[in-house]
Amino acid sequence: MNILYKKSPVAAALALGSNVGNSEEIFLQACKLLEDKGFSIDQRAKSIITAPVDCPAGTPDFTNSALIGCFAGTPEELLEITQSIEVELGRPADHAFHDSRTLDLDIIIFGDTVINTPRLTLPHPRAQERRFVLEPLSQIAADWVFPDTMRSVRAALDMLEK
Ligand code: ADP
Ligand code: MG
Repeated sequence: MNILYKKSPVAAALALGSNVGNSEEIFLQACKLLEDKGFSIDQRAKSIITAPVDCPAGTPDFTNSALIGCFAGTPEELLEITQSIEVELGRPADHAFHDSRTLDLDIIIFGDTVINTPRLTLPHPRAQERRFVLEPLSQIAADWVFPDTMRSVRAALDMLEK
């Protein structure tokens, strides 16, 4: 007899960034596409506007947000989905690191997964130093813990503010 096996959902946090186009509209479309592709969203943070970090002069300000939800699949499958959504919403698949972008959709935390492969590092390697990630995320997941440093989102943000 075949037993249908379904992976149990894992809680995950994603960061959204955009500095080209109607960023709020792009975020709404990204949320819809995430749901369509199997990422179930629980909460989304209110967006903040931030000055570009480590970008060439003249780079437009960013709109940043974050969301939390569940995904019943592997982190690599979720990365496929987030990258396909970036492309669907107008980001060239082949882009330079600091190019302006209609959408950057990063996986910040995926359950207690800690991995470092050429395609995917979890938790996101720069999230704990980035105010533009931590500030929106703290609105909706201040008590979530980064499973590498075991620091909460709130604690990581507090450390930046010192
Ligand atoms: P950034 O998000 O830092 O502005 P990009 O969006 O251009 O940069 O991503 C560069 C690469 O980072 C992607 O091709 C992806 O394979 C890799 N990457 C590694 N870890 C992650 C992660 N946790 N979330 C999203 N992308 C990641
Ligand atoms: Mg990215």
